[in-house]
Amino acid sequence: MGPGFCRDDTVLRLADIGMTELVFRDDAYARSCTARVVGADERGIRLDRTVFYPTGGGQPGDTGALRLASGAAIAIVDTCKGEGPDEVIHVAAPGSALPGPGTEVTAELDWDRRHRLMRMHTCLHVLCAVVPGAVTGGQVSDGRGRLDFDVPGSSLDREAIAAGLNALIAAGHGVRPRWISDEELEARPELVRTMSVKPPTGAGRVRLLEIAGPDGQIDLQPCGGTHVKNTAEIGPVTIGKIENKGRQNRRINIAFAV
Ligand SMILES: [Zn+2]
Repeated sequence: MGPGFCRDDTVLRLADIGMTELVFRDDAYARSCTARVVGADERGIRLDRTVFYPTGGGQPGDTGALRLASGAAIAIVDTCKGEGPDEVIHVAAPGSALPGPGTEVTAELDWDRRHRLMRMHTCLHVLCAVVPGAVTGGQVSDGRGRLDFDVPGSSLDREAIAAGLNALIAAGHGVRPRWISDEELEARPELVRTMSVKPPTGAGRVRLLEIAGPDGQIDLQPCGGTHVKNTAEIGPVTIGKIENKGRQNRRINIAFAV
């Protein structure tokens, strides 16, 4: 029994309980991977492994294509979570012919779009370091992003936030994932900046995203999304309107400057 057999054996069992090997979790820069179709129905296509990030944590699902050995391609217009843990549903364009179980495919991202989403997602982490206060919500979209902060009054200075944010981006700080145990997270409640989204515990460990500065951490919080490796990769951004969304809720809108 070689390593190939072991691997296939493991993947089959993962797939049987509705789990997909999440390639993006360890390598956000993987643009494609080979995979096998586990199932396909009106909701979408399930694979044994994937580079496609499913909608979650304020980041939209990926788009792209599944390429077949015949040269045909199935356009993927969205990706969402299934019912099982780590189950990913690839939503095919309407009218697509669905592949049968066992079909070998190459799952290929619309990388330009995903990279923009990674840049903006990482930018929102940097924004957390610039603006004090709990985060009450947020959303990444293609080319834009927003975060809501629980801060009183009109204490937010748009120009100062833009300057602070762009300085941290340009400084080229490293960005990396880290894992901690459920117990460690419970002992450090200050790590959770979002009031509305509790990180998923119960699996024994939680994925953190760390932005490391020369004098310590710039940001460290639970996150399962995809990020760039260095803040400089985000590029310059502009702050749009700061909107009032309730008595203490301020929404900061961000867009890429170029
Ligand atoms: Zn994140």
